[in-house]
Amino acid sequence: MTLPALYIVTGASRGLGEAFTRLLLQRTPVHVLAIARHANAQLAQLADETGARLDRWQFDLRDAKEAGSLLLEWLAQPDRTNTAWREVCLINNAATLPTVLQSASDTSSEAFETVLQVGLHAPIMLTSRFLEITQDWPAPRKVLNLSSGLARSAMASTAAYSAAKAGVDHFTRCVAREEERKPNGARVCALAPGVVDTDMQQQMRESAEQDFPDAKNFRFLHASGRLTSVETAASRMLTLLDSPSFGSEPISELRAEPRAESRAPARTIAKP
Ligand code: NAP
Repeated sequence: MTLPALYIVTGASRGLGEAFTRLLLQRTPVHVLAIARHANAQLAQLADETGARLDRWQFDLRDAKEAGSLLLEWLAQPDRTNTAWREVCLINNAATLPTVLQSASDTSSEAFETVLQVGLHAPIMLTSRFLEITQDWPAPRKVLNLSSGLARSAMASTAAYSAAKAGVDHFTRCVAREEERKPNGARVCALAPGVVDTDMQQQMRESAEQDFPDAKNFRFLHASGRLTSVETAASRMLTLLDSPSFGSEPISELRAEPRAESRAPARTIAKP
């Protein structure tokens, strides 16, 4: 008998998180907790079709501390603690850009707060509470944190988002060191997914150049067909999560398939 798997995915309502959740819902037996501000009816329909168990929280991750407490409570329920799981995984995928990409001096305190709460504080709270409650569970435990090329190379007008992602990277490195010392330590990885065709990309390329000088590079990536589809990126993410070597390197990136035209000298563009 195949044991069920348990997955918690933030930002599951659209973009990469939605595509990834769709894949998870097809690997029954499975229990998925999908978290985002908006409900996604197609996910519920897919769960009905596949027989997956899907719980959905419409929750604003700006309240990161509350998110951690709620997850702790949810995981402490008897049908979670008493189940023999195939694996239990947290995927911290949700993130946001400020409404307008601008230099730090023009970015409001409220915008910084939102980006840091959703993109950094929430992953930290959720990961910490997930590791706390599952530490004695016998199943393999994994945490996949969505990072970004911008955590690793600087770009003007992305300070809030890039700082959040750099924080995610370093948080992940530290947790990896802690977990490797434990008997059934979790495997953790911060993954930069590449340039993926989502709302976030659209916002970057549609930004005004006087605010965000790199907007033209994002328009170029889009116009030259260099964006990865959400389905392809999600499938590569799942392959990585399933890989026996998942977490052996706490910092990772999804590499695009080599394309004939990319053998020409490349323009160096940091990925969002
Ligand atoms: P996206 O299309 O903008 O989707 C973001 C997801 O996060 C949505 O499901 C959204 O759901 C959720 N979210 C945003 N604010 C939230 C809040 N306050 N509370 C709860 N959920 C919230 O982003 P994406 O492009 O799929 O990105 C997925 C991940 O990959 C992110 O971590 C991003 O930084 C990273 N990434 C993306 C790219 C790219 O090229 N797309 C590149 C590098 C890294 P609701 O609006 O329903 O709340």
